[in-house]
Amino acid sequence: MRSVFTPPEYLSPSSINTFRDCQMKFKISRFDNIKEPPSWATHLGSFTHEVLEHLYGLEHEERTLESLKQLAGELWTSNDWESKVLALEEPQGDIKAFKIAAFSNMTNLWKLEDPTETDLDEMELKVDTEVEGVRMLGFIDRLQFNDEGSAIISDYKTGKIPNPNFKSEDDKFFQLLAYALMLEAESGVPTSQVELLYLTHSAKHELAATPVKLSIAKGTIVETKESLDAACASGNFHANVGKLCDWCYYKKTNICPAFPK
Ligand code: SF4
Repeated sequence: MRSVFTPPEYLSPSSINTFRDCQMKFKISRFDNIKEPPSWATHLGSFTHEVLEHLYGLEHEERTLESLKQLAGELWTSNDWESKVLALEEPQGDIKAFKIAAFSNMTNLWKLEDPTETDLDEMELKVDTEVEGVRMLGFIDRLQFNDEGSAIISDYKTGKIPNPNFKSEDDKFFQLLAYALMLEAESGVPTSQVELLYLTHSAKHELAATPVKLSIAKGTIVETKESLDAACASGNFHANVGKLCDWCYYKKTNICPAFPK
């Protein structure tokens, strides 16, 4: 029997998270090709990532708050962030409020590490490989190698720290553990630790990338691929109606069939 939908050629850790959160959301975005527009939060995250990536492109001694300010100003103008923020459908404040929130996130980095003494070996590293037969593609935000030659993978987060009552540790770190599996599959480099840098809260959450944690993440990748293939074959994508719907664009716009007009 022919599949109703052709499964995507590859998955990324974030697309796996979307499918696991809600299959219907994945289907609307991926197969109906109706994308969620950017939000205040996604723009805040993207601008912060962009500026910090450039900061770490400078020589160690140049990574100062003064340079940060200058870089933020230059990137704001060259990438026309003002127009992007002004175009938001639901802004949470004016341009000044956006700049204050973004700059506060960026400067909080100094509470977590000293950029003049931090060595990043790779940034935005593309990884395109197979994990247990599942084609995976993604970009690793930050990668450092320790003295033993194993990797420390880290990522900036500008949102809230997930409530442990609603999100398990395995789910919270899934994206980074998936990157660790992808890195090892592609280059043979093992990962010893993964780190989430919650800039808004000035908090670093670390996890040892143990064989057990990696095996759980591997299981998640394989199970998700199997469920996705089954959903594509049948055309049935489950609408996971719950708390997440209150923040879902497809509910607000009545695109989700679980919330018709
Ligand atoms: S509104 Fe809820 S059920 Fe519908 S797509 Fe969004 S998260 Fe899924």
